[in-house]
Amino acid sequence: MLEQYQKDVADRALLGIPPLPLSAEQTEDLIALLTQGHDKSELLLDLLADRVEPGVGKAAAVKAGWLEQVALGTVSVPGLSAESAIAMLGHMGGGYNVAALIRLLQKPELAASAAQALKKVTKIYEAFDEVAALARENAAAREVLESWAAAEWFTQSAPLPEQLHCTVYKVEGEINTDDFSPGNQAQSRADIPLHATFFGVTRFPEGIGTIAQFRQNGKTVAFAGDVVGTGSSRKSAINSVSWHLGTDIHHVPNKRRGGIVLGSTIAPIFYATARDAGVLAIACDVTDLQTGEECTLNLRQWTLTDQNGRSVRMDEPPVTLLDEYRAGGRLNLIIGRNLTRMACEALQRPYPSVFKEVVNPEPAEDQAYTLAQKMVGRACGLPGVLPGTVCQPQITTVGSQDTTGPMTMQEIEELACLRFKTDLFMQSFCHTAAYPKTSDLGRWDSMAETTIKCGGLALRPGDGVIHSWLNRMLIPDTVGTGGDSHTRFPLGISFPAGSGLVAFAAALGFMPLEMPPSVLVRFHGQRRPGITVRDMVNAIPYTALQKGLLTVAKKEKKNIFAGVILEIEGIEDFSVEEAFELSDASAERSAAACTVALSLSRVESNIRDNIGLLLQLIDEGYQDREALVRRIAALEAWLAAPSLLCRDEKARYKAVLDIDLNTVVEPLLACPNDPDDIRPLSSVAGTAIDEAFIGSCMTHLGHLRVAAHLLKDEPYAQSRLWIAPATRMDRDVIRNEGGLSVFAQIGGRVEIPGCSLCMGNQARVQPGAVVMSTSTRNFDNRLGDGARVFLGSAEVTAISALLGRLPTVAEYHAFLARKQVAGGQ
Ligand code: SF4
Repeated sequence: MLEQYQKDVADRALLGIPPLPLSAEQTEDLIALLTQGHDKSELLLDLLADRVEPGVGKAAAVKAGWLEQVALGTVSVPGLSAESAIAMLGHMGGGYNVAALIRLLQKPELAASAAQALKKVTKIYEAFDEVAALARENAAAREVLESWAAAEWFTQSAPLPEQLHCTVYKVEGEINTDDFSPGNQAQSRADIPLHATFFGVTRFPEGIGTIAQFRQNGKTVAFAGDVVGTGSSRKSAINSVSWHLGTDIHHVPNKRRGGIVLGSTIAPIFYATARDAGVLAIACDVTDLQTGEECTLNLRQWTLTDQNGRSVRMDEPPVTLLDEYRAGGRLNLIIGRNLTRMACEALQRPYPSVFKEVVNPEPAEDQAYTLAQKMVGRACGLPGVLPGTVCQPQITTVGSQDTTGPMTMQEIEELACLRFKTDLFMQSFCHTAAYPKTSDLGRWDSMAETTIKCGGLALRPGDGVIHSWLNRMLIPDTVGTGGDSHTRFPLGISFPAGSGLVAFAAALGFMPLEMPPSVLVRFHGQRRPGITVRDMVNAIPYTALQKGLLTVAKKEKKNIFAGVILEIEGIEDFSVEEAFELSDASAERSAAACTVALSLSRVESNIRDNIGLLLQLIDEGYQDREALVRRIAALEAWLAAPSLLCRDEKARYKAVLDIDLNTVVEPLLACPNDPDDIRPLSSVAGTAIDEAFIGSCMTHLGHLRVAAHLLKDEPYAQSRLWIAPATRMDRDVIRNEGGLSVFAQIGGRVEIPGCSLCMGNQARVQPGAVVMSTSTRNFDNRLGDGARVFLGSAEVTAISALLGRLPTVAEYHAFLARKQVAGGQ
């Protein structure tokens, strides 16, 4: 065991990273060596203390079980006293150690040590009732309860310094989460130190070395950027930031805490993920800061001064930010505060005034609410919640995909979650199913195992895209979340989040939320022939650009949608699938969430179909069966008295964007390489297209059908054409209708249902290719290295593939007329 471990140490040292945490098997072997009296017992004890992940992983179970035996004296090992074993149990976060410590509380000779250890643990959950019951007659348990009620877990932690002196590492322009955590290295994300070696590799390749050099000189480093953290909601981006800027966490292998990020603009999801994980993200004017510059952050006065003593403009922080930072992140703070609240209730004493408290906006007597505000309100047991309200809505549905999934599973284990409290947790495999690396296969098994063990639903590789599935399991007007930034429910509302918050919502059944303001997007008029739903998607930023509410330039970028809830009206006759095209693209707008007002009859028929699908999954043996049964019951209950929330007439929005569909007279395309750079087809017609892609969560069966119809009996495509059905059901239907054969005849390449080219970690287009795609986003290098990507409808994509170039508007309409297609139909 030791030889193998030391080989791992040496191999990974070549990459400048620590060895992997000990597996359950290694932990068992290590314990066997200790029990045999191995001559390196001191080293083995250090490994046991520091190299086993805390929480409810298998290795933690082995460690906790054995330490309890040592504490009880059933096993004795030189150099490890009962007290030391109990102290080690106390450093294990929560889960198996909690049960062991509660048992040890009941042993008079060990109770004092067990109480000391338990006082510092906050991930107690259901075990709280056991301690509270015990406290009635057990003095040690009472002492634990008193400590929790006084929030000693917080007050006895190291206070924050008044001032932090930092050296700046600055990157100019926009730094998206793919720059911090490249999508093409997604398979390494669960291995934080390894993944962190890809930090900035294409965008700021000297970053790791420069930061390390500053740190070697004993400096605290602050990462600064003009626009920081746009793109996917990647906890891995924050993990890498913490790895390079933060500090080790005692007894937690391969994870660091803290780090400072300064940004003139910080993307809302990145900001929230940073807060959750204990990274201090500060919105401030970084324009004049330079790499290597020393600055001083005064936490008490909330000021930032550069090396010349000039003050840097800073935004006001959330009231609780510094408490969160001290507690190691917002999630730790919420968990601890909930424990303190429960202990105060059990002891019937007032809540201690040691935390900063938020004052929420007060609703007026006849307060009017938007649709989103009503949905979140219902999840909080209120008629509505106003923007700026800090609340904890109940989360009924949580989605996890397979590149963020391994981290979510790690966080679930670290949160000491043995059973999900959210009603439905669903795990998909759409990001890696088509072209898995060997390491993906093991991850599939462990994600499915953890999901099912905790009472969630595991899909299967090849089933298709997460959202196309999750959207078929939604309960209208409820709130959800997901680790994929496109978790944007067409029914109800979803606030996508980093994997830490997703795991939290799954484990605890609620999530912290500061209610964002809303922007209303209202469609009017009739779509003209040839104008598709995708053109309506692009019409939103196009209209905002024309009205000066959005700019393409990154420096001092304007974006009315950033961080708000997009509330869409005027498409009540849309199907739920069509509505999702609009809500899905709210991710590209950097919106926090999206609602779509749909007609009751459309939603009812969607729910009926969905129940049929879920029943089929039960027949096919999908697990956890109970999760499916529960969700079917919830959908049936909704169907028994169907109703949908509606906004109040006088609801107020941050802005209202009216879009007259009569003015959209030609297809609209997002141009290379920015989803906001929307232009009419006529301005880019004739551009040579090397490759074309019909797929991603922006597509559904309707798109495959229209593509098959347009391509039928046409000559071989001039561009390389890729087609990826969103789900296996779509693939089966289009196959049975002869569509796959049509695609094959014109040279189309049909991919396994899933994300395919959209994700960029699977198949790739040729380096430097010009691409027409139906996928979601066209960030640099996403579909292929140096690719220049247009985004638009399946219709434009299919015709472009045939022609090898973007059609003219006249060619486009003539083609549709020849094929008798009205557009989007
Ligand atoms: S299809 Fe693309 S945007 Fe949609 S979930 Fe997959 S990778 Fe994300």
